[in-house]
Amino acid sequence: KRSARCVLALLETVAQTINDNAQELGRIDAVAGDGDHGIGMARGANGAVEKAREVARRDAGAGTLLCRAADAWADKAGGTSGALWGVALNALGTALGDELAPDAERVALGVTHAREGIMHFGKAKPGDKTMVDVLVPFSDTLNQQVAQGASLVDAWLAAAAVAQQSAQDTAQLLPKMGRARPLAEKSLGTPDAGAISLALIVEAVGKLLQ
Ligand code: ADP
Ligand code: MG
Ligand code: MG
Repeated sequence: KRSARCVLALLETVAQTINDNAQELGRIDAVAGDGDHGIGMARGANGAVEKAREVARRDAGAGTLLCRAADAWADKAGGTSGALWGVALNALGTALGDELAPDAERVALGVTHAREGIMHFGKAKPGDKTMVDVLVPFSDTLNQQVAQGASLVDAWLAAAAVAQQSAQDTAQLLPKMGRARPLAEKSLGTPDAGAISLALIVEAVGKLLQ
């Protein structure tokens, strides 16, 4: 199905971006965390692609494909971020469903559900220095743009630019969640690894949607 092939192509781009940046993501995570963010994200994203290719051969819809890929991501990645990405992609896949071509409203709603899932399971709030500090402004911008009538591509690109800036801005924050918390002071001046990887991913998706 066309929309499932599109989701597979997006996952392939996500995995490529993560593989290209895995070393740098590990370096950032090592400043105040355990340094495994690049390895974990690469395992998760590559596992998701492998599963998505298998599911696509069975002619599944986009939502089903994304939910199966989400489970594979969480399984292969391990770590906090792997579980949270599994939750997020499952929420997105469920919202997209297996309809033909999801419109901008449907995608924006899916991102809202992904954000709610991550915040419900992870319990982090804005300012805690996590991926939530990118996800909240990203989904707010996406929803605002779509409500104002922007096309999906334009809305996504505007939101991805906000995500990029928000990820850089986490450098000034002190971590309150996760493994980075005990080494909070050391992390000042360095952005959050999970915030950076999320911004990279939405940017790569935006480039492919263009
Ligand atoms: P781990 O912390 O288990 O080693 P990773 O290194 O893969 O996992 O991921 C760390 C990233 O996960 C952090 O940089 C942060 O963005 C994100 N994170 C950690 N805990 C939470 C949480 N409770 N809610 C949201 N995001 C979190
Ligand atoms: Mg880590
Ligand atoms: Mg770890």
